Amino acid sequence: MFCFQCEQTAKGTGCTAHGVCGKDPETADLQDLLVYAAKGIAMYAHRARQLGAKDRAVDVFVLEALFSTVTNVNFDPERLEQLLRCAHQVKEAARQLYEQACKKAGKQPEALGGPAAWTPADNTDDLIRQGEELSIENRINERGQDIAGLEELLTYGLKGTAAYADHAMILGREDDEVYAFFHEALDYLAVDGHTVAELLALVLRCGEVNLKVMGSLDAAHTETFGHPEPTSVRITPVKGKAILVSGHDLKDLAVLLEQTEGKGVNVYTHGEMLPAHGYPKLKKYKHLVGNYGGAWQDQRKEFDEFPGAILMTTNCIQRPKDSYKGRILTGGLVAWPGVTHIDDGDFAPVIEAALSADGFARDEPEKSITVGFGHHAVSSVADKVVDAVKQGAIRHFFLIGGCDGAKPGRSYYTELAEKVPDDCVILTLACGKYRFNKLNFGDIGGIPRLLDVGQCNDAYSAIQIAASLAEAFGCGVNDLPLSLVLSWYEQKAVCILLTLLHLGIRNMRLGPSLPAFVSPNVLKVLVDKFNIAPISTPDADLATILGTAAA
Ligand code: SF4
Ligand code: SF4
Repeated sequence: MFCFQCEQTAKGTGCTAHGVCGKDPETADLQDLLVYAAKGIAMYAHRARQLGAKDRAVDVFVLEALFSTVTNVNFDPERLEQLLRCAHQVKEAARQLYEQACKKAGKQPEALGGPAAWTPADNTDDLIRQGEELSIENRINERGQDIAGLEELLTYGLKGTAAYADHAMILGREDDEVYAFFHEALDYLAVDGHTVAELLALVLRCGEVNLKVMGSLDAAHTETFGHPEPTSVRITPVKGKAILVSGHDLKDLAVLLEQTEGKGVNVYTHGEMLPAHGYPKLKKYKHLVGNYGGAWQDQRKEFDEFPGAILMTTNCIQRPKDSYKGRILTGGLVAWPGVTHIDDGDFAPVIEAALSADGFARDEPEKSITVGFGHHAVSSVADKVVDAVKQGAIRHFFLIGGCDGAKPGRSYYTELAEKVPDDCVILTLACGKYRFNKLNFGDIGGIPRLLDVGQCNDAYSAIQIAASLAEAFGCGVNDLPLSLVLSWYEQKAVCILLTLLHLGIRNMRLGPSLPAFVSPNVLKVLVDKFNIAPISTPDADLATILGTAAA
């Protein structure tokens, strides 16, 4: 195996013997093969669409195949093999679609090779061998670091975008142009002979498409659950039976809340589900009692201690300990071998597991935090915020957020947030916020100094907030007193970064380390064009950002 798609990749260069995330070599090879199979489907689907023919089943399968290969989603070789066998059938359907479209148009179909000609091996071992042959290392040797690295950057951007598009699709929002882009980009990646310029243009287009997808997901969330409102969320347990819901899928949470109503079970959010408490149609449930724990990398300790059932809706899952393997269940595309998976939206097994577990014996002393500062809530007080800036009460805005992870270097983000001066406001989102969201930041004239914008996909909301501030000040986003200090971990963060680059956002700081797949030459292009920089120390970065560094 060779995998360097996430920030915790071994030695900062690549996981080769076993994934630091827990992915074994066989699973890694099957995932590589699934991406290859998705390219084969896209080769036909792209050409069919150009002739006016499309098939939703083909479109959706490509999304789900890519999302299944995102870090910490699907660790189950059996499910991956099923997906691969299904991929071949979908590819055949796409081929027929293309050939029929050619016939209708009086055209001779192209004879497609490479991924389009792939057929799955008969058994698991041979499938794994097929995956092994696709090693990224071979491509790096053949095409060089710049080209192979940019191909991976595009692939990871597509994987992240697929995750958001899948969330939006689940809530009924789909976009034909988005499907068309997936097919076009995968078709492009399916052949060789790429140039740096072409790849850079495509990664920025991926950022553009991802902005559209995140906008669509934002609309899907707010239409379905209402606009998030500032809401106090209890972060200490209450007595009683309990279910903990982790991942990112708000629809799963909504369905579970409906199914648990009146059953004597309290529901808690974990990780990226925290923002759910701000949505009117979710917070109306009295048994959605609070948030438990922190970011994904602490789950093995937290799930162990949680005396109830756990539902993992999407990433990020870690190897479950035996102590809770019988009371964690997965849904959607997330999977772990031996863990019960719910495919049909019937969460009765989760409720049973919760009722069989001890539950919390007593109420812990109440503590709370506030969430729900989406673009709607912040824009409604934009005048107040603008006045505070004009009067000098607010000096600067920091967006400190992104994915969290296990590396010690991530304490940078806690220290930075703590050291941000009292006359500055911090916007935060995604699970990186757990580094500091339980600290007391106070307020500036009634405006909270810490504004929790939401999940990682709510980067869209943060962009809208920045756009409204820019409009109010009559300037561009890059001219605002706003600095982005981002943490990244996996491919959702990659596509968000591409969106910010597409928008021309400059001077971002990125950490805790830079992606291994970005070669020195490509990094130079990003630095020259966008002045993107690695984080250094909280003191040095604050001094540079606030202009207080010694000359
Ligand atoms: S996803 Fe990350 S940790 Fe897992 S194998 Fe790939 S690079 Fe390694
Ligand atoms: S923000 Fe990223 S790292 Fe955090 S839970 Fe979501 S996908 Fe995982």
